[in-house]
Amino acid sequence: MILYDSDLKIFYSTLINDDNFFSGFGTKDLGDGRNIDTTINFVQKNIPNFKTIVIPEQIHSTNVTVFNSNLIDNVEKITETDGVITDDEKSILTIITADCCPIMFVEKRQGIVGISHQGWRGSVKRLGQKMVKKIIELGGKKENIIVAIGPTIGGCCYDIDDERYFEFLEEFDGYASKIFHRHMGKLHLNLALLNYLQIKELGISEKNIDHFPFCTSCDKKRFFSFRRDKKQDYGEMLSFICII
Ligand SMILES: [Zn+2]
Repeated sequence: MILYDSDLKIFYSTLINDDNFFSGFGTKDLGDGRNIDTTINFVQKNIPNFKTIVIPEQIHSTNVTVFNSNLIDNVEKITETDGVITDDEKSILTIITADCCPIMFVEKRQGIVGISHQGWRGSVKRLGQKMVKKIIELGGKKENIIVAIGPTIGGCCYDIDDERYFEFLEEFDGYASKIFHRHMGKLHLNLALLNYLQIKELGISEKNIDHFPFCTSCDKKRFFSFRRDKKQDYGEMLSFICII
């Protein structure tokens, strides 16, 4: 289940957060995640004794970085990556999104966490599946992997043109009836559902997948939305995960 923490102003997955793992999908109330101070302020205030804040330079790729560091009280930027995985304690993995689909991954027994950012490019190229496979490569077991899919633009608001439709159709023909619908003559795509189906396809049990039921574009009070806001009042939400 995804719940809201009104003190921290984050949504979190009850499948993930416990005494050893801490994660959150941030809201507008945290500030614009593109500003690095938003992340630093949040972490300094809420994650005592953190070691490193990991900030990927997101480029809509399917590049995955396995991060390890001995540095303390540090900010580490990683170039050209959209997925980060670590087994470090107190290394805070972050991404920012506004309509794109943020996904978190945990293998609690092995102590591995990951986070990834997928817009349409990452989704069509199956970045979420790449993250799961990498965690398994690092010693994780499929049956222990938990996944949480965060606030994403909904099928209600995400219309796509024909070119993109055919690109998705080519890769995900079998899911077409589930992920596309037509509204007012336009084709709409449910990006979060597509990512959910990809994770399930790998054999991750439904009970291990949490997903966020609202749309970033519809919920103006809580979320920034690239599609909705364009250049006015535009920002991005911070999401993070760490082993504490
Ligand atoms: Zn919507």
